[in-house]
Parts: sequence; C-alpha cells; structure tokens
Amino acid sequence: MQHVLVLGDQLNLERFDLYPPKQTQILMIESIARGQVMQYHKQKLLLLYSAMRHFKVELELKGFQVFYWQGQTFEEGFAAYLQQFPKATITVMQPAEYGVAEKLQTIVSGLDGQLEIIENCLWLSTHADWQTYAADKKSYRMEFFYRQLRRKTNWLMDGSEPLGGKWNFDSENRLVPPKNHIFPKPLELKPDAITLETKAFIEQHFANHFGTLEQFNWAVTRQQALQVLDHFLEFRLHDFGAYEDAIVVGQAQLYHSLLSPAINLGLLTAKEVCETALKYIDQVPLSSLEGFIRQILGWREFMHHIYSTLMPDFREANGYSLTRDLPHFYWTSKTKMHCVSSAVTQVWNTGHAHHIQRLMILGNFALLAGIRPQAVNDWFLLGFVDAFDWVVTPNVIGMSQYADGGTFTSKPYISGAAYINRMSNHCQHCQYNPKETIGANACPFNSLYWNFINQHLLSLAKNPRMSIILANWQKRDQTTQAAILEQAKHILQNLEQI
Ligand SMILES: Cc1cc2nc3c(=O)[nH]c(=O)nc-3n(C[C@H](O)[C@H](O)[C@H](O)COP(=O)(O)OP(=O)(O)OC[C@H]3O[C@@H](n4cnc5c(N)ncnc54)[C@H](O)[C@@H]3O)c2cc1C
Repeated sequence: MQHVLVLGDQLNLERFDLYPPKQTQILMIESIARGQVMQYHKQKLLLLYSAMRHFKVELELKGFQVFYWQGQTFEEGFAAYLQQFPKATITVMQPAEYGVAEKLQTIVSGLDGQLEIIENCLWLSTHADWQTYAADKKSYRMEFFYRQLRRKTNWLMDGSEPLGGKWNFDSENRLVPPKNHIFPKPLELKPDAITLETKAFIEQHFANHFGTLEQFNWAVTRQQALQVLDHFLEFRLHDFGAYEDAIVVGQAQLYHSLLSPAINLGLLTAKEVCETALKYIDQVPLSSLEGFIRQILGWREFMHHIYSTLMPDFREANGYSLTRDLPHFYWTSKTKMHCVSSAVTQVWNTGHAHHIQRLMILGNFALLAGIRPQAVNDWFLLGFVDAFDWVVTPNVIGMSQYADGGTFTSKPYISGAAYINRMSNHCQHCQYNPKETIGANACPFNSLYWNFINQHLLSLAKNPRMSIILANWQKRDQTTQAAILEQAKHILQNLEQI
C-alpha cells in the first residue's frame, strides 16, 4: 500500500493517473488551527476548504480511498492516520512554503511514521534550470531566466530567436481603455451543496476574519477552473497585453485572467494554462500572448525560485528600517484617497485585486508611508484568495517594498499621483487633486513620494535609473522642498485621517 499526503495547494488530479487506486491510500488534513494562524480572508478559506472537499470526492470517484481528517491541528490528523496505518511511510510532493517539509517530517517521525518528500510536479521549471541561470549570481533578473525557459520550452520561438523578433513586448502593454469602453462580462460560477456547506463552516469557525463571503465566485473544482481558463482565452486574452497596467473604476477584472487561485491550488497546472493559451497564436496579438506567457513562465516561476533561494532571511528584510504600522484603512477602506479605498473595498469583497492595484496603489502607498514591510507582507498574505507565502513574500518584500535592497528589481516601484492619474480614472472621482502637492486638497501620494526621495537620497543616488527623478527634486528651491516635506510630515502624523 502506498500512502500519499495531499496538501491544500496540491489539488492536481492528473498526477494520480500514475497511482493504482486499489493500492493507494490518500491522506488529506483540514486543520482549523492552520486557518486561524492569521485572520485570513473568509473567501480564501472557503476556496481552500471547498476545493479540498471537492478534491476528496473526485479522488473517490476514481476509486481511491481517502482518509479526510477534519479537526484542529495537523498533529492530530497525522496521529489519527498513523493509528490506523502504524509506521506508514507517507509520500508528499515538496511543499511550496519554506520550512513546511521539515515541520511535517518532525510531526510524522514523532508518531513513528516516515515522510518521504518527492519532487513537486506543478512547477514549470526545475531547481536545475534555476541553477543554470543563478549559480554564479548575487542579484537576479526575471527577464534572463524567462528567456532561458522560453528556449527550453520552445514557446513563442522562431528557431533560436524569439517570435516577432523581441523577447518582450512590455512597451506595448501600457494603454488605458478609452472612455465608455465595454468590458467583457465576468463569468459567474454557481456554488454547489459542498460549497454552501463549507460556507456555513467558515462563518462558524472564522466569523471575525477579514472580508465577506457574499460575492464568492472562485473555481473550487478542476471543471470550474477550466471554465475560467476558457472564458479568459475566449474573451480576454486578446486585449490582455494592451490594458495589462490599466486601472478602471468599477472594473475589478478588466482583461486579467483571475487564474492565480486555480493555478496556486493545483486545479490547473501552469504548463497546461500556457499550452492552451499558445493555441490562440493566430487569434490574438503577439504582445498579449507573450505578455500572458511572461507572467506565468516568467514571473511566477522566477518568484518561486527567488523565494526558495533567499528564504528565510528574506522575509525579515527591512532595508529602509521602516517601523510604522499599517493604517486602519487597509482594514476598513475608510480613506478619502479614492484609489486606495476602492482597492481595499475590492479586496474585502472578493479577496483579489489585479497586479497594478497591488503594486502601484496598495504597495506603493505602504512604502511611501514608511510601513514596516513585514506588516505589509502579513496584510497581503491574509487579504488575498491567491496568497501563499512563496508568492506573497517575494512580491511584497522584494518587488513592492524593495526591503531587500533590490535583489531582483532594479528600483523601487514608487510613484506620485501623476502615474495613478495616467493609468486610471480614480483621480476624477477623488476628493484630492492629483496635480497638487501642498495644501488640504493635495493628493497624499505626491508629498509622500518626494519625502521618500529626499529621505533615501543617498541610497537612490547609487541607482542610475533614479537620476532624473533625483535631479527633479534637487533642482527645486529650498523653500519649496521644505513645504513639501512639511506637508508629508503632517500627512504621516495624521495617517488615520487622510
Ligand atoms: C504586492 C503584490 C502581491 C501579490 N500577491 C500575490 C499572491 O498572493 N498570489 C499570487 O498568485 N500572485 C500575487 N501577486 C502577483 C500578481 O499580482 C497576481 O498573480 C495577479 O494579480 C493574479 O491575478 P490574475 O490571475 O488575474 O493575473 P493575470 O494578470 O491574469 O496574470 C496571469 C498569471 O500570471 C501569474 N503572475 C503574474 N504576475 C505574477 C507575479 N508577480 N508573481 C507570481 N505570479 C504572477 C499569476 O499566476 C497570474 O494568474 C502579487 C503581486 C504584488 C505586486
């Protein structure tokens, strides 16, 4: 008899084709205590537990025996299992999260069982791929690892050259939809009996957690995940590239795929998502297809390896020595800044925000306001349905908060209101004026931006990509600089009121 542990983010049915059902015993553990480690978004917990419960049923339909344990802790789950199957050797795919394999191993060996870790088949690239790229490097760039993987997969290649003559069409991916643009309608997924039952369970055990369950619309089965993929490819992939960086009031999805929860849980593999998208090569602009493939083959894989390479110190990085806590509006959405308030409301309602909202609104504001990176990391970890430590920590600590000093990004992702006004229509709905830096109506992003530049002048001066911005600050007269810094000081002292 083979014993296989399936973790909540390893819900991939296909790999069980290799296991004989009659000789395979599967263990799944649904731990309430794990869900209470943080005030995780209710939709994240509903997604995870409902997807696990559906996965159990699907395994059983394939003829597998599933020992599905529901209770407080992982320890109790293993104890119950090893009581029924004493001294079992349990196999599990390498957990994505740092330190989990060791924790599980300690629990199982303490109960007289054994845990065998096997390679995780859900990634597109291997440790050896990463070593080929990273072995001799101290800092890393996604673009070059991505090119290596493009060559390896032969995706979007023309012999040894990239299709279309360029590796990257990023410069074509910065348009804003015209006024009154009609966006495709979102796909609606109906909750079934298992999801409804799980919903009641979440309300019972996690009542005080972040977010609401009302608008829950996430795929909890492979079949639903395939529907989400098809819907995206049919209606959104075409314009994915052009509007990738745009933000539009009232449009939560725009042309994004909303596939991260399904891929992160294993309901879809990154490989099949990319291979299915590649079939649309003759129907969509290359800039959209390349842009989408780059997000998954490039960013997603890169972030996973960055995490595995830099943990555990990485999570504690705080290069700017920031100490402030997150203001309350990250929980309540009560701020006059329309872009921040809308993004937090969206996260509260859905457990999701798209990349530019995460990076250039929520993350940007936190960095400019001097929030402790670990507080920001925790907020992203608990607030989003697709959040897992391996993907949140590099995106927050590295990409968004620059707390690691730029191990894999070339400059901090910061901006004043001008960028937000260019890429979104939020400022038209906002009480603050994006064009003003000083005064009661001035958008807080502006003075906080210059305050950040001024505070970190010495370290930023070492970065050639910041030279124009620094020159822009330094050419202002001292009276103007002092007034801007005074404005920023006032905002930081009254962060809860802005
Ligand atoms: C501060 C911050 C926090 C983030 N937290 C998460 C998170 O908790 N979970 C998560 O999956 N992604 C996270 N991301 C990355 C990205 O924002 C999300 O993957 C994306 O918004 C998910 O929506 P989507 O599926 O519609 O993505 P799309 O825009 O449709 O992109 C397609 C896919 O590409 C992948 N992808 C794109 N960018 C990244 C990236 N930077 N890192 C890893 N994968 C990427 C995702 O699998 C995504 O589904 C974060 C980014 C930032 C800046």
